[in-house]
Amino acid sequence: MWSPCSSQSLNRLSSHDQESNFFSTDLLFLRTKPQVSEQSLESQLMAQTTPNHTQTVSGWAVLDSSGKAVPHTFKRRENGVDDVTIEIMYCGICHTDLHFARNEWGITMYPVVPGHEITGIITKVGSNVNKFRLGDRVGVGCLAASCLECDFCKSSRENYCDQIQLTYNGIFWDGSITYGGYSKFMVADHRYVVRIPENLPMDATAPLLCAGITVFSPFKDSNLVDSPGKKVGVVGLGGLGHLAVKFGKAFGHHVTVISTSPFKEKEARERLGADDFIVSTNARELQAARRTLDFIVDTVSAKHSLGPILELLTVNGTLAVVCAPDQPMELPAFPLIFGKRSVRGSMTGSTSETQEMLDVCSKHNITCDIELVKTDNINEAWDRLARNDVRYRFVIDIAGKSSNL
Ligand code: NAP
Ligand code: ZN
Repeated sequence: MWSPCSSQSLNRLSSHDQESNFFSTDLLFLRTKPQVSEQSLESQLMAQTTPNHTQTVSGWAVLDSSGKAVPHTFKRRENGVDDVTIEIMYCGICHTDLHFARNEWGITMYPVVPGHEITGIITKVGSNVNKFRLGDRVGVGCLAASCLECDFCKSSRENYCDQIQLTYNGIFWDGSITYGGYSKFMVADHRYVVRIPENLPMDATAPLLCAGITVFSPFKDSNLVDSPGKKVGVVGLGGLGHLAVKFGKAFGHHVTVISTSPFKEKEARERLGADDFIVSTNARELQAARRTLDFIVDTVSAKHSLGPILELLTVNGTLAVVCAPDQPMELPAFPLIFGKRSVRGSMTGSTSETQEMLDVCSKHNITCDIELVKTDNINEAWDRLARNDVRYRFVIDIAGKSSNL
């Protein structure tokens, strides 16, 4: 879902050949290092303009740290042998798009074309691609490329490949910066493309490609998909959080929402099926729920303390952190050690796991609750998302009549 700055060696950049090296994390590292001269940085970036980028595509991009999206025309690569070209129908708006647009993590490479919750139709198929045909309904999430050789790539856990490159703000094999789904079409390596089950609608399914898989994966890691009857907590009732509630209920668990927004209680219970609702600013409610939950997934987009959340876990309970606030979160020792509790991170999911999640959604009829927005209203949607005013995901109507793409 994002490219973290890593401390990988910079050497690879100088030995970089045009063929197949990844260096996004190196490049991001470079970009945060003031001692690198603007000129050398500029020349590295110039190297990313590759001759095979011949296709012109219209989209929406953020050009600078003003964080405003504007119409933007850019180039995509030709459809290669391993690629499919996708006419984009819908693209969800993840809070990550906002973090990137506003450079909240300090790693944005402008211009950035956000969007990693993409559904669309295949219009071109490369000669090495056997699993897709023209006209197939497909989706693309956060992943654009990985090394294909490490243990993680070989065991369908490529989301943890050290060389992972993301759908936007990443750097592809050929050195070009990746651009996301706020655009008319995209070219994607088929190994990171999934099939949308027939019974799932393309608009309300788009957010499953990031929000859905990001909360499904920790449920699976904690053996909560096929073992009903546990007590599950969901912190933050936004895009990720509301899907976590739906998964929790579909998998037969008792689900408690922990939220800063008391006004969300009615819909959490009546619309999403939550069993309990705790207002996280209410000390009495937190105290009453101490040591009651087996597993909690934290989806809060802003800085917060993990201490009060940990207190809600039983002894040996697990807190899965999937959120990515721009500031470090407080992790006090006492609730950890007195309850022998664990805190674990989780980063989106692999392609095969994403397909599995979609098939589970197809079986349980799980889709996202969405508000469809026109391309012209992206900035308004972002402002509302920042104000915590969305039920529960904005999805951009890329191919509809209202679209200007
Ligand atoms: P979202 O729709 O904006 O939901 C975030 C929720 O956090 C809000 O609905 C709100 O819930 C709560 N919240 C917001 N501001 C808060 C504040 N100041 N204090 C306390 N609570 C606050 O965001 P999202 O798209 O679900 O994404 C959530 C986070 O996950 C983001 O940081 C995003 O970058 C990250 N993410 C990570 C991955 C991954 O691979 N690990 C993937 C996707 C997204 P209440 O009103 O209920 O309190
Ligand atoms: Zn996302």
